[in-house]
Amino acid sequence: RDLLLRIEDLKVHFGGKSWIPGKASKTVHAVDGVSLEVERGKTFGIVGESGSGKTTTALASVRLVPITAGRVFLDDTEISALTGEALRLARKRFQIVFQDPFSSLNPRVRAGQIVREPLDLMEIGAEADRDGLVQELFAQVGLRPEQQALFPHQFSGGQRQRIGLARAIATRPELVVCDEPVSALDVAIQAQILNLMRRLQEELGLTYLFISHDLGVVQYICDEIAVMYLGQIVEQADRVSLFVRPRHPYTKALLSAVPSARAGKRAANRANRIRLEGDPPSPIDLPKGCRFAGRCPLAEARCHETPPELRLIGKGHKVACHLV
Ligand code: SF4
Repeated sequence: RDLLLRIEDLKVHFGGKSWIPGKASKTVHAVDGVSLEVERGKTFGIVGESGSGKTTTALASVRLVPITAGRVFLDDTEISALTGEALRLARKRFQIVFQDPFSSLNPRVRAGQIVREPLDLMEIGAEADRDGLVQELFAQVGLRPEQQALFPHQFSGGQRQRIGLARAIATRPELVVCDEPVSALDVAIQAQILNLMRRLQEELGLTYLFISHDLGVVQYICDEIAVMYLGQIVEQADRVSLFVRPRHPYTKALLSAVPSARAGKRAANRANRIRLEGDPPSPIDLPKGCRFAGRCPLAEARCHETPPELRLIGKGHKVACHLV
């Protein structure tokens, strides 16, 4: 496999002094031993509820949150070891598209300048050529040249996300981290943006690390998917295996919550057997055994004692459950 991104045993722990005098410090285990590999030119999805660590995993992999332990490689470059100028230069190779196009764009800066900024920062092309590059980027994401003069509030939500995409591809990155890029948009607009992302991927050979809580969206755009629960991957597989033959009780529960027309009727019917109740436990006081045991209807005594390892059960299909 031609791998672009490799994450090895990534841990992101947020330490904290207790704000209550005399109380011990607490550590939040936001990401706790995540390893994954993303093939060049493909879309790798990470799904999970809020607090699962999916966004932190993605942000840590592009050095936007501090890494506690583990290593991240882009090709042969160890991103996790870079500092200073080397890290600044490497940033050309990975960009991010945020969830909320309303708040991720500076309201006082015109759209053309927003897209031009990364070109100036990274000194891409001759200065005299950058206006032309911005015009090309606008065309690539389906915006008109005269719209460069407008401010973000003069665009619709979908158009704002097009500006976000133009800004992200300006440096011709290899990896684009997409943090819930369509969650704030209407369903019809979601489809337009997802199709645009697919087209850009084909044209530019982009690799996406795609974070979402929406399984319908993930099924539409992702080639491979990891399901995260409480800081760890509990199941990982290609799209077909995950949606047609989910094996982990948590994945089955997530799929059972998706309307059958979107997730595939068979998957939903199989998944119907398990329903999720309650909230995940605190990422501060983690359970000793399987982290899902408190909510899992199949839990046995050993589940509360021993954490299951993420094991390969078929071609590229990994599951962390004692019963699989
Ligand atoms: Fe459920 Fe046990 Fe499997 Fe955890 S290891 S998912 S508690 S059956």
